[in-house]
Amino acid sequence: MKLPVSFEFFPPKTPEGAEKLRGVRQQLYKLQPEFCSVTYGAGGSTQEGTFATVGEIIAEGVAAASHFSCIGATKASVRAQLATLKGMGVKRLVALRGDLPSGYGAGGEFQYASDLVAFIRAETGDDFQIEVAAYPEVHPQAKSPEADLQAFAIKVKAGANSAITQYFYNSDAYFRFVDEAHKLGADIPVVPGIMPITSSSQLLRFSDACGAEIPRWIRLRLQAYGDDIASIKAFGLEVVTDLCDQLISAGVPALHFYTMNQSAATTDILSRLKGA
Ligand code: FAD
Repeated sequence: MKLPVSFEFFPPKTPEGAEKLRGVRQQLYKLQPEFCSVTYGAGGSTQEGTFATVGEIIAEGVAAASHFSCIGATKASVRAQLATLKGMGVKRLVALRGDLPSGYGAGGEFQYASDLVAFIRAETGDDFQIEVAAYPEVHPQAKSPEADLQAFAIKVKAGANSAITQYFYNSDAYFRFVDEAHKLGADIPVVPGIMPITSSSQLLRFSDACGAEIPRWIRLRLQAYGDDIASIKAFGLEVVTDLCDQLISAGVPALHFYTMNQSAATTDILSRLKGA
């Protein structure tokens, strides 16, 4: 059987970006994704763009998942947005706490993603398939790895159907996370989030902030390539394809690609995979 894949996009900021993304989506639809998801800006800052992009995907005949973060939100605002999404035909949400843009105070009526999951279930029953985030290499603000696993288990108990991980390049961290989550009774499918490697500085900067580790050997190789983009892309393709092959051999339920609104890297990886 073909392994399910899903693709993640961020809402474009300009009409040119939106037009380019339409072309990217058409390329990626050829790979028959189970769904495509659209991120939600810090503190809800891209809500309009997120919902507009989700609407376009649905109109294109593809299942769409809206990311939905709750930090700083009120129950009334979340209730209203859920009604909007339901009216649009959205059936899948990626429920997150999110991060506030710097300079904002916390506020809001939700503290953790588990509060949002419980609220969505209480308000809308089984109308939505709810995905949550998982961190095989531990969320950067977690008190400890154990506390983070417990927090994950609470999200599952609150009603999450499945999870998507932060990206990683060390598959052992993923396998261990899944095993330990199972021991806590959190046995929903945990889909690896895959970040293709297409540039060096952006990946290194981004990973420091979001709790994904770039192994030393990958970091050093990327740094050594300097501005040689062709070598970075060829190396990245090899590394990420190998990672996906390992994950598929171990029986992962699906793969979720962080496309960064580009089609080439994801298409190249998937065309090389043996089991997908
Ligand atoms: P939570 O699950 O609430 O966890 C946040 C922190 O609180 C963790 O350290 C956890 O250990 C701790 N915690 C949780 N529950 C408890 C508890 N009951 N008691 C004590 N501690 C607890 N960000 C966006 O802004 N927009 C997006 O679209 C977006 N999409 C993402 C998609 C994926 C697949 C992933 C992996 C991340 C995404 N993020 C997105 C980033 C995410 O918002 C941040 O990582 C954020 O800091 C945490 O969100 P969360 O839902 O994982 O939070």
